[in-house]
Amino acid sequence: MAGIYFHIPFCKTHCHYCDFHTSCRLADLPGVMEAEFKELSLRKNYLGPEAVDTVYLGGGTPSLLDLEYLTKTQNLVRHIFEVNEDAEWTLEANPDDLDQKYLFDLQKSGFNRLSIGTQSFDGEILKYLNRRHDAQQAIRSVLLAREAGFQNISVDLIYGIPGLSKEAWERSVDMVIDLDVEHLSAYHLTYHAGTVLYQRLKDGKLSEVPDEVSLGQYEYLIKALKKAGYEHYEVSNFAKGGFYSRHNSAYWKGQKYLGIGPAAHSYDGKSRQWNIRSNPEYVQLINRNEQFFEIEELSEVDRYNEYIITSLRTIWGIEVTRIEETYNKVLAAYFKQKLDKYIGSDLVYIENQVVRLTEKGIFVSDRIMEDFFYV
Ligand code: SF4
Repeated sequence: MAGIYFHIPFCKTHCHYCDFHTSCRLADLPGVMEAEFKELSLRKNYLGPEAVDTVYLGGGTPSLLDLEYLTKTQNLVRHIFEVNEDAEWTLEANPDDLDQKYLFDLQKSGFNRLSIGTQSFDGEILKYLNRRHDAQQAIRSVLLAREAGFQNISVDLIYGIPGLSKEAWERSVDMVIDLDVEHLSAYHLTYHAGTVLYQRLKDGKLSEVPDEVSLGQYEYLIKALKKAGYEHYEVSNFAKGGFYSRHNSAYWKGQKYLGIGPAAHSYDGKSRQWNIRSNPEYVQLINRNEQFFEIEELSEVDRYNEYIITSLRTIWGIEVTRIEETYNKVLAAYFKQKLDKYIGSDLVYIENQVVRLTEKGIFVSDRIMEDFFYV
C-alpha cells in the first residue's frame, strides 16, 4: 500500500499561525499545477509495484482548484499508477470555498473524503487567527458537504490559543460532536518562526497560554469525544466508526508515499526526499528537467527513531518483535533497557508484545518518545 500527496501551495490570504509553504500569488497557480502534473509522470517509478491506497491534496488551499484540475489529477494518477478501487481521495478545503456546486463537482470528480479547515467554531478566535471564514461558514460547510453526499468528513480544531476561553473551546468541541463528522484533528497552537503570532509573542504583545489551561482543554477534548463514540487513535486525531485517515496512517505506519509539488516530502522506505520550497524555482527546475529536490538516505538509527516517533503516537503502538527483528543488537538492547524503565508505570502498557501509551502517557507522549530515542 502506498500514498500520493499533492501540495497546492496557494492561499487567498495568510493565517497568522501558519508556516506551511504557500503563496498568495494566485496567478502562478496554472504554472505550478502543470509542473506538478509533469512531476507525477517523471516519478512514476518512485512507489515501485505498490498499489496506491490514498491520494491527498493538501496545502495551501486545494479547494482553489476547479473541476478541470480535480478531474485531471484523478485521470493522471489513475493512468500512471495502479490505484485501489476503494482508495481514499481526500481534498483539504477551506470553509469559505465550499458551496453546493463545488461540492457536487468534487463528488463528480471522484473525491470521497473532505478535510475541512474549520480550526474553530468561535468567531472571535477565527478573526484572531486571521481565517477567512466565520463560525457560521464553518458549520454551513460541514452541513453542505453532508448534503452533497460526503460520508467521510474531517474537521480541524486548534487549542491553546491566547484568548480562547474554556467555554468557547468546549462549544467548539461540542459543535464537532453535534455535526457528527467522522474524523477530527486537534492541534495545540505552535508559534512558528516567521508567523504573525510568533512575532507578537517575541514583541511581548501576547503571552503563551499556561500549560494547565492547555492541558485542561486537551482533557476536555479527549473526554467529550470518547463519550461521543470517537476513538482517540493518534495523539492529535480522533475517528468514529473506523474512519481513520488513511493518508496519515500510511505515514505513521511507515508506508511509502510520493509527495508532489513545491515543499512536498516523499519516503520510499530507505530515504526521504523533499522538494524545493519555492514555487518559481520549482517550476523552472521541473521545466528544465533539473533536480528539484534534496535527498537523505536514512541510517538504521534514523529509521529506529522514526519508528518510535510514528508508532508510539498511535493505537497501533510499538511492536517489540519488530524492534528485535529489524534493528541491530545495540538498538534492540537500548529499546529493551528503556522499556524496562516504564514497565509497571502508568504511562505505557504492553499487550501481546505491543507497547502503547496509557491515557496518562498520552499527555506526556513527547517526553516518552524522546526518552526512547537513540542519540
Ligand atoms: S489556509 Fe491553511 S495553508 Fe493557507 S495560510 Fe491558512 S492555515 Fe496556512
